[in-house]
Amino acid sequence: MASKFLLTLAICRLIVAVGLTLDPTELLLLGVEGQVSHDPADVGSASRDFGGLKTAEPLAVLYPASADDVARLVKSAYESAYGFDVSARGHGHSINGQAMTRNGVVIQMSGSKGTRLGLRKPEPPRVSEKFMYVDVWGGELWIDVLRSTLEYGLAPKSWTDYLYLSIGGTLSNAGISGQAFNHGPQISNVYELEVVTGKGELLRCSKEQNSELYHAVLGGLGQFGIITKARIALEKAPQRVRWIRVLYSNFTTFTQDQEYLISLQGRQAQKFDYVEGFVIVDEGLINNWRSSFFSPRNPVKISSIKADGGVLYCLEITKNYQESNAGTIDQEVEALLKKLNFIPASEFTTDLPYIDFLDRVHKAELKLRAKNLWDVPHPWLNLFVPKSRIEDFDKGVFKGILGNRTSGPILIYPMNKNKWDEKNSVVTPNESVFYVVALLRSALETGDETHGLEYLSHQNHQILQFCKDEGINAKQYLPHYTTQQEWVHHFGDKWTQFSTRKMEFDPRHILATGQRIFTPSF
Ligand code: FAD
Repeated sequence: MASKFLLTLAICRLIVAVGLTLDPTELLLLGVEGQVSHDPADVGSASRDFGGLKTAEPLAVLYPASADDVARLVKSAYESAYGFDVSARGHGHSINGQAMTRNGVVIQMSGSKGTRLGLRKPEPPRVSEKFMYVDVWGGELWIDVLRSTLEYGLAPKSWTDYLYLSIGGTLSNAGISGQAFNHGPQISNVYELEVVTGKGELLRCSKEQNSELYHAVLGGLGQFGIITKARIALEKAPQRVRWIRVLYSNFTTFTQDQEYLISLQGRQAQKFDYVEGFVIVDEGLINNWRSSFFSPRNPVKISSIKADGGVLYCLEITKNYQESNAGTIDQEVEALLKKLNFIPASEFTTDLPYIDFLDRVHKAELKLRAKNLWDVPHPWLNLFVPKSRIEDFDKGVFKGILGNRTSGPILIYPMNKNKWDEKNSVVTPNESVFYVVALLRSALETGDETHGLEYLSHQNHQILQFCKDEGINAKQYLPHYTTQQEWVHHFGDKWTQFSTRKMEFDPRHILATGQRIFTPSF
């Protein structure tokens, strides 16, 4: 069967080379339980991502029915004399074509297409109440994991702000949100993985078993293997969330409060469960897709607050609770808020079910979709900035380069490095506390060039150049580079380990070539 597949791919490559149309029947010969497609609609959808900045058409798309299908395809690629690469694609929510390939097959890990084709879904989530974990397929979306675990009154501990992302996609990066200060990123909350390496081997790995592979894959940008299954840590699910936002006009006070809040840790500590924040550089706040929380009946006029350098900062915090403890939640929140130095009377509070809080960004997505504002280019820039330089970043970027204009939410919140496992592949600044700064921008054709893609992309370059010139050792999160030299610089001390692991687990460099770190050896 493998040889038939190789032959088919060889034919495909040849057909592509001479510019003829692909014959769909050719790839049906593949000996997998799932389905291989080179239907233009499937190929087209695998050639795009959320960023809307890049396109690359794969030779074919595989909808796997099992981990064995994934292993069979990767093994074929590894052993192929003709050469093709393989990219796992979760929900395609990358910005810069990271899940794309031009010279190979995209394995569509997430989505219902496979089910519509009559394929069985590769393994639904399996919860262990006794050991407080859930085993999930690598293409499962976090929203579906949450729904499954809530049936048992349980939930994962660490989240992303948006839940329509795949397990494999976020674990290949880190997976961060306001719980990371306390629980670490999602990659710190995985007990075990099942992975198909670049040699086509299907292996289980954990801190105890095949630990090098386990750590390589977590935050490994898809370079070492395709995650087919993950065992995720669970906790008792809270029932409700008290969600609070308070405003600051002074950056130092804002960051001091954020850092104070993330220093409160441990099981017994009175602390918030989620700490985030965002920057308000213009009056766009009210229209901003992350700010639906501020109601039009909002008693505080944002414009009436005297902002330092025209910029305001919003601290966003939550306290989870069970309905049986509803009687004490007000006092607990009040006691915590008392220690903070936000602008008096700038407090906005709401209370909602846990699932509604976790799924909050999806509501904003639906609103943007209704206005045709979701499928637009997204030149996002995400940085980890060391705590010691965050003031310089504020002055140079929020109050400088951005020029009181934004094109989407700007998130900023600190994390504790001791919650990140240094053995994992992801890189973070070398300080005990660092901030994530996420410029989540949408490019629009409004006639105003400052909303346009070119302007925003140029601004991203300016921000990166500013960090370089000022010696701010920021690291990109969801990194994007085009030369290996830049990647070597990005990984710094970790590069030798990263490239050694690549040699071991994907020696032909066939996996996730869309990251543009290594060149395939065919
Ligand atoms: P894809 O884009 O499909 O793939 C990303 C990379 O992972 C590719 O290199 C791909 O080859 C690889 N990959 C995919 N599946 C697998 C697998 N099973 N095994 C191995 N490699 C695989 N991130 C955060 O941390 N926190 C947030 O709050 C957050 N919010 C977001 C909100 C939105 C609206 C969007 C668009 C993105 C957000 N992200 C956030 C970023 C997101 O986590 C990453 O882009 C992630 O990669 C998306 O997952 P995906 O399933 O769409 O991955």
